[in-house]
This record gives sequence, C-alpha cells and structure tokens, in this order.
Amino acid sequence: MAIVMSVLGPIPTSELGMILPHEHLFTDLRGPGPWDYSSIDLGHVVRRLAPLLEEIKAQGVTALVEATPPCVGRHLPALEAVAKATGLPIVAATGAYRDPFLPQAMRELPPEALTEMMLKELTEGIGNSRVRAGLIKLGASDEGLTPAEERLLRAAAQASLRTGAAIASHTTTGFAALRQAQILEEEGLDLARFVWVHAHCEPDVELHVQLARRGVYVEYDAIGSPDWPDPSFIRLLERLWDAGCGSRILLSQDAGWYQPGDPEAPIRGYGYLAGSFVPALRSAGFDESAISTMTVENPQQAFALEG
Ligand SMILES: [Zn+2]
Repeated sequence: MAIVMSVLGPIPTSELGMILPHEHLFTDLRGPGPWDYSSIDLGHVVRRLAPLLEEIKAQGVTALVEATPPCVGRHLPALEAVAKATGLPIVAATGAYRDPFLPQAMRELPPEALTEMMLKELTEGIGNSRVRAGLIKLGASDEGLTPAEERLLRAAAQASLRTGAAIASHTTTGFAALRQAQILEEEGLDLARFVWVHAHCEPDVELHVQLARRGVYVEYDAIGSPDWPDPSFIRLLERLWDAGCGSRILLSQDAGWYQPGDPEAPIRGYGYLAGSFVPALRSAGFDESAISTMTVENPQQAFALEG
C-alpha cells in the first residue's frame, strides 16, 4: 500500500488530497550550530503556526511537507506539537542542507555513514523517537556541487534505493540539477525519486523540460512570493504541459516560518496557492484535471513510500 510518512504516522495516499510539497514551519538559517532548542516554548510555536495551518485545512490541504533538513533547524518536537494541535499531517525531512551550512562533522563522514544516518531516520525514527522522516532533503551550491554535497547526494541515492524515499534538493541552476541527475543515475536511482526544488530559478525552461522528460519532478515553489508574480509561473506551466510533462510538476510556496532566533518575526502564511493561484490557473485555462494532477496526484506520487 502506498503511504506518505508523516510525524503523526503513515497515511495511505488514497486518504490524501491536496499536498503542499515544500513549506517551512520551523527553520533556523543562522548557520552551523550548536543551537539548543530545548528552551523553545512549544506552546508559542503552536499559537503562531496553528491558525495558518487551520486556514489551509479549510482550503482542502491534507498534508504539508516540511522541507527543513537537519543543519537548518529541523526540530521534531515543534513539528509534532503543531501537527497534533491541528491534525494536519506534517512530513519531516532527513538529509542535510548545502555548503556552507554543513557542520564539520557531517563534512568528514564517509558516504556509508551518511547513508546509515538517513536510513535510521527513514526506517526507525528521528533521534530517540519512533517518528520517521518521510523524505530526504539536500542542497547544492549555486556554483555547482561541492565535494561534501556530492558525497551526501550519493549517500542519499543509496538510502532512497533501499527505502523508496524521494530526494528533494535545493538547486538553483539547471547546470547543477543536470549534474545531480547524472550522479543519481550513476548510483542506479530512477529519476522519478528526485525533486528539483526551486527549478523556477533556472531561467532556461528547456532545461526544466529536459529533466522532466527524464522523470525528474520540477518544483515551482515560490508561488505567492512578491518576487514571482503568477504570470511568470503560468508561462512555465504552459510550456511544461505543452511538452507533455504535466505529471512532473510540483507547486508550493516555500512559505513560513517560525524562527527560533527571532520568535516574533513575521511568518508568511500558506494559503496563497489554494486561495489565489489555483483560481489564476483556472482563469488561464487549466482544467480541473490538470489542477488535480499538479496539486494532488503528483505530490502523492512524489512522496509515496511502501507502507
Ligand atoms: Zn525551502
């Protein structure tokens, strides 16, 4: 049975509808720690985030992928508290982020140890808990993969081969995404397990088409951001659909998030996609079936695991 693994446990994909494949609830971009979150007031985290999640639940969102990996503040107690308070399944990530956010200890680990670290979180639990990660999140530097990033990617490929977990990578250039696809194929991975996060940052849409045709999920995840007006995304979506790549598209907002270093900082909500962008898609001529492919079926399949 296909499931999506959330911090509330496995959910059969047949019970899910719309999924937001890339958002953030609790993230810390202050750089390599050691940051101590033990004094964080989880009640305050819930008070700030729960209303934003209730809004998207009311819109029909049935799960949210929390794309924050270890190294940049993934904090399981916060994700669990918010998921329990709202009943919204949250998918937590294993993996790592990109240079220069990688801690020195992680930089020095051999690929086998990195694979073991990810496998443990995907199959047994995060930390001392029995709560399992539901995807592998990584990153690539803008100039291309550093040696540590390549080692992490190869390690992730081996963890994905053994679990089926998706690998989602923060990758802002087509050049780096092509290199990642090459490495994953060298490791024997089906590119349908790879999500190219922030693909819209690559201006050459033909590279989006090229990788989508090889099976990669092309994720447009700045929807609702002031820097990326809706028409810029509609144009990309029209090109991908024209090229027959509708089944490879993921849509999200990269919105949020609670900052442990600045708990009162503004949090961008998650309601724009369902509330404003989907109506814009309809106005642009996308029918209900196409909208469902991009917002329901594609994320269900991208993050599906055998349960
Ligand atoms: Zn993100």
